[in-house]
Amino acid sequence: MNVLDSELVVGSLRRQGFQLAETPEEADVIFYNTCSVRQHAEDKIYSALGRLRHHKNRFPKKILGVLGCMAQKDQEIIKRRAPHVDIICGPGQLSQLPALIGAVETTGELQLALSLDRTETRHDVERSFESYDPLRDPSMRPNSFQAYVRIMIGCDKFCTYCIVPSVRGPEQSRHPLEIAAEVRQLAAEGCKEVTFLGQTVNSYRFEAKDGRTYRLSDLLALVHDTPGIERLRFITNFPKDMTDDLLVAMRDLPKVCPYLHVPAQSGCNEMLKRMKRLYTVEFYRDMLARCREIVPGVAISSDFIVGFPGETEESFEKTCDLVRTGGFKNSYIFKYSPRPGTKGYEMFEDDVPEDVKKRRNNDLLALQNAVSLQDHRRQIGHRVEVLVEGPSKNGFKQDPNGPIQLTGRTRSDHIVVFDGYPRLAGQTLNVEIDDATSFTLFGRVETCETNGDFHSGHWETPLEKIPEAAQTRILPLFDASDSSKRIGLPLV
Ligand code: SAM
Ligand code: SF4
Repeated sequence: MNVLDSELVVGSLRRQGFQLAETPEEADVIFYNTCSVRQHAEDKIYSALGRLRHHKNRFPKKILGVLGCMAQKDQEIIKRRAPHVDIICGPGQLSQLPALIGAVETTGELQLALSLDRTETRHDVERSFESYDPLRDPSMRPNSFQAYVRIMIGCDKFCTYCIVPSVRGPEQSRHPLEIAAEVRQLAAEGCKEVTFLGQTVNSYRFEAKDGRTYRLSDLLALVHDTPGIERLRFITNFPKDMTDDLLVAMRDLPKVCPYLHVPAQSGCNEMLKRMKRLYTVEFYRDMLARCREIVPGVAISSDFIVGFPGETEESFEKTCDLVRTGGFKNSYIFKYSPRPGTKGYEMFEDDVPEDVKKRRNNDLLALQNAVSLQDHRRQIGHRVEVLVEGPSKNGFKQDPNGPIQLTGRTRSDHIVVFDGYPRLAGQTLNVEIDDATSFTLFGRVETCETNGDFHSGHWETPLEKIPEAAQTRILPLFDASDSSKRIGLPLV
């Protein structure tokens, strides 16, 4: 969600005449787009702001801003710990940024743009969180052939550990026709793969004026035939809202990729109850079985929190059992981080010691890695369809004129690494898998011989037809010709 917000902020400021700076020090305006999900993310921002204090003292005209969830949650703390900050802007107010920059320039005073907190009436709070979806700018994405599209904002689930409902506001779904128009625009700009975003994306529900209700399955059907779009994905799913119509849409609509991210969080009913996840582990297991029955071969991934208050060795073992038997492609595992402002913080003492959290985190990760390796090994000897994203980490270090290591993803979201030329980025290729680790599949591009040269059958695409941004994963810099202002969005 933050990656998308950053893309949109930079795109909109660029239209105002700004350009991206190479380093924060070079920039006239520096923004940190922040996350509040765990304490660690916040600590990193305060350190980064601290490092810029001296720079700001030397160049007081430079504008420093904190955007996103931390801004929404902690304006008073930011004012106290980083008094050199000029703009504090929540995720529901990002469209105000150009005006806020102007106001700092003219008044020199701190500018705040925040949405209402959730103690006000629902209607008022909803109105204070704007869905921020200005015109898209393909050059602002790591590549032009993949894009996120927000289909809803906010969350109403209020899991007891989670700060998201407070900082991103009430759940609100976007108009399906607006989403379809954005997908068409992205496709016209060369986008092949669209990922719909929502905190609980499968809870998407839009009541149209004609009385028709659109669910996520309807939305997928609506955009499915957009010319140019090859792949449709959606993240993140809430287990309780995994309805059959969505699974049937995944099975029957060929562009909908067979991949589901459905966080379980724990394998212990007592913990799930304390987390207020609204399902039991038995329900979750049945849901997994239903997904696999309706969409044979679907890849499923999950999130888990270890060390939630009250988690005993016995409850942790139940989570291990779910990971051992759940068949997840991969899992993201987090140590519980108490978040002031959540029910969990008020109700439960953070009683699992840090070293125990760390050990459980490592143990669960090791277990998941073993499961992922089994899943990956099953793919050896198979041919998979890969959308090439560009050079892998190693590929970036290799000679760009020769074949280098490339990376891409299968329809089931598996990462594949193989040798090829950088200009294959953005193409969809068939790759034969011949090796696997817990994280990666390794393969060879299906090839043909042309004039004695080694070719992948897809090289015929003339270079000029591949969008320039597709040839590199580094965010391109702007054309500086008519611009006087620079912005920096340091990656923290
Ligand atoms: N909406 C998604 C869902 O319900 O699955 C997840 C959104 S949350 C931003 C991403 C993940 O962060 C969660 O699935 C959870 O595992 C983790 N998370 C959220 N709050 C956390 C906390 N206080 N401590 C540790 N992990 C947390
Ligand atoms: Fe947070 Fe739960 Fe909402 Fe996900 S569903 S964003 S974990 S409150």
